Amino acid sequence: MGASARLLRAAIMGAPGSGKGTVSSRIIKHFELKHLSSGDLLRDNMLRGTEIGVLAKTFIDQGKLIPDDVMTRLVLHELKHLTQCSWLLDGFPRTVPQAEALDRVYQIDTVINLNVPFEVIKQRLTARWIHPASGRVYNIEFNPPKTVGVDDLTGEPLVQREDDKPETVIKRLKAYEAQTEPVLEYYRKKGVLETFSGTETNKIWPHVYAFLQTKVPQTNQKASVHP
Ligand code: AMP
Repeated sequence: MGASARLLRAAIMGAPGSGKGTVSSRIIKHFELKHLSSGDLLRDNMLRGTEIGVLAKTFIDQGKLIPDDVMTRLVLHELKHLTQCSWLLDGFPRTVPQAEALDRVYQIDTVINLNVPFEVIKQRLTARWIHPASGRVYNIEFNPPKTVGVDDLTGEPLVQREDDKPETVIKRLKAYEAQTEPVLEYYRKKGVLETFSGTETNKIWPHVYAFLQTKVPQTNQKASVHP
């Protein structure tokens, strides 16, 4: 067995609002994997004002994806520093050309796909209402106002931010689906796609944890932490 046989090359995929952020942070807490998020990488480049950061900002501001060649170069460059590590890619690959470019350099062992029903995500993402004058934030599920649609203190109407409106959320989810379905299909065909379905992150997580225990090399498992 070569050194690479002892390392895990994984990716995680899930729509906005699927709980991908929560699941990723739990994975990192329980397993010694380097977490490489393409969004974080881009934001870091933007903050530092690098050439890629300046370019990326023009695309992100228009709600567009970064061109495949730029994105692939950026991520593969980062991965060069991690040849001795097990890693978890997050947000990359987002397109089939990105998946193919990654494949030319690394063999992906597993792709964790979080599959949460459209309606549940829509409910989660549209649950936030604000009182514009004070900035008070309510969440219909976790922190609802005493009366629906009305600020507790002033009695004034609550509004939704553009991003939280059902029309916008549906558009984002449809765009995600259209964009990533071919990537999921690509990994399905390769036999490395592992789909976890459910409506609650806390119920999905134990399955992801149990699955990773069978996949992550012993040397990258943290012994003492409970899921
Ligand atoms: P995220 O935090 O993953 O939602 O990424 C923020 C933004 O960065 C996205 O909306 C895209 O514009 C861009 N981005 C992140 N990852 C990729 C990728 N793999 N390919 C193209 N664009 C990306």
